[in-house]
Amino acid sequence: MLPHQLPRYLINFNLLSLEKIYTDFLIIGSGIAGLYTSLKLSAEGETILLTKSRLKESNTEYAQGGIAVALGDDDSPRLHMEDTLKAGADFCDPQAVEILVTEGPQCVEELIELGTMFDQIEGKYKTTLEAAHRRPRVLHAQGDATGAEIERALVEKVLKENKVKIRENTFLLDILVKDNTSYGVLVLDNEVKKLVAYLAKSIILATGGVGQLYRNTTNPLVATGDGIASAYRGGAKVRDLEFIQFHPTALYHPGNPKFLISEAVRGEGAILKNIRGEAFMASYHPQAELAPRDVVARAIFDQMKKTNSDYVYLDATKIKDRFSQRFPNIYERCLSLGINPEKDYIPVAPASHYTMGGIKTDTWGKTNITDLYACGECASTGVHGANRLASNSLLEGLVFGKRIAQRIKEKEREDDRSTQKSKDLSFSYNLPRKKPKNYDPLKLREELQNLMWDKVGIIRKSSELKEAQQKIEEWKALVFVSELETVEEFELANLIILADLVTNSALLREESRGAHYREDFPERDDQNWKKHIEY
Ligand SMILES: Cc1cc2nc3c(=O)[nH]c(=O)nc-3n(C[C@H](O)[C@H](O)[C@H](O)COP(=O)(O)OP(=O)(O)OC[C@H]3O[C@@H](n4cnc5c(N)ncnc54)[C@H](O)[C@@H]3O)c2cc1C
Repeated sequence: MLPHQLPRYLINFNLLSLEKIYTDFLIIGSGIAGLYTSLKLSAEGETILLTKSRLKESNTEYAQGGIAVALGDDDSPRLHMEDTLKAGADFCDPQAVEILVTEGPQCVEELIELGTMFDQIEGKYKTTLEAAHRRPRVLHAQGDATGAEIERALVEKVLKENKVKIRENTFLLDILVKDNTSYGVLVLDNEVKKLVAYLAKSIILATGGVGQLYRNTTNPLVATGDGIASAYRGGAKVRDLEFIQFHPTALYHPGNPKFLISEAVRGEGAILKNIRGEAFMASYHPQAELAPRDVVARAIFDQMKKTNSDYVYLDATKIKDRFSQRFPNIYERCLSLGINPEKDYIPVAPASHYTMGGIKTDTWGKTNITDLYACGECASTGVHGANRLASNSLLEGLVFGKRIAQRIKEKEREDDRSTQKSKDLSFSYNLPRKKPKNYDPLKLREELQNLMWDKVGIIRKSSELKEAQQKIEEWKALVFVSELETVEEFELANLIILADLVTNSALLREESRGAHYREDFPERDDQNWKKHIEY
């Protein structure tokens, strides 16, 4: 067992009796980070990409606003870097940020060459302004469907080239690690309902974040932090998990996930108003509607409390008839709910949106486990600090995915290892577990999401964090002694592990910084807390 009574593996197994598939490079996840890395690696050796749902299902597919990159004449990587560091609340790794902003433009050029069509006007790329950016540097596609366009282009390229073997409906359970080296992964192949082992020279996790930890989230149902949890179980370092970004403006409507009203809407001039119709952002921050996300999310939360309401309004009426052209998807979704953004106020409320922390990597995507890499939202490269600058995450997936491919290529040249690396390995695990289980995984997932929203959410305090800890301990004792069999049960187990890590880190960090706000420690404390919480 790991600390806190966590099992090392989610299931009992013996590698000898499993079907084994060998490859050179194994990538888990089919968002921007996984697809781009697989395209970069497939020329170097046999590459397999596994993903737990349909190929396109990912956070990437739903990204709206765009991708930040300093291309304009009045802009520079230096300015982009300064904005990123400032939004990150003095907690970014400056070296990683420098890499992001200087290598970003080349990666975006490559994304365009791969077929991504960003919006243009008179032959020049259109750019928009988003919160905490001093320049309009956000490229977008089809107005507000940037992620879907990137995903379309990458998926088409991967399928057309036909060099990467794709396995959909294949759920990563655990990483096989021995003597601090990773050899492969255990997966549940849901197409045939079978446990399979994939063994590879290099394993790249691109499994995204953990938005589904919260009742209100913009993240799709697949965002359950599986890669981070499995890496943690395998001995990889994880860090900064207390820093969860809450997006200020998700559409207020029933259901999960919540539909996002992109920051770019405020970038185009929309104003936040409370339910009494009063604009309020100017009294919270000099940048008003374009203040950093954490500031806007807390201001909205405060106004919701003060007016005893579950939402505030976004008044985009001044964008007028440009709205439907600039934001066609948001416009359609609002209309379907009887809201015409060109005439009506849009009800909005904060929702969990982005995981700043994750699997600790160096600037080449390497984890502390040999041959295990991580990129995209599941990784903690240090580029986002305590608060991600809007539209930097798509860029991060490209830049660090490419660097992983470069690093692996170099390594291949240095040491000509064969795929035999894993052939005579023995791995097994046998922990006594109860059957049948006495809980309903979907119901417990909802209870966990409610607990995290209510006690470990936008505004935190010691007493509530401790209450959450206690409840999570109870659920650990319930879930981890049971036999786990289904994807719902595996996802729940991973969510509980992440809940535990997020809550413990949030309790430990006795200061407020970026997205982590403690009511009982409202100030930033550089003297004691300019350090990472790492497990
Ligand atoms: C609504 C919304 C709007 C956003 N807008 C923007 C924006 O405008 N600009 C921006 O920069 N960022 C935006 N973001 C954030 C950005 O989309 C993500 O951070 C980024 O797409 C993450 O890419 P990724 O490849 O790391 O992960 P993802 O795109 O989330 O992909 C993760 C992949 O891993 C797979 N996976 C997960 N667990 C397993 C498992 N156990 N086994 C197998 N496969 C697994 C998933 O199915 C998925 O395919 C937005 C996010 C959301 C939710």
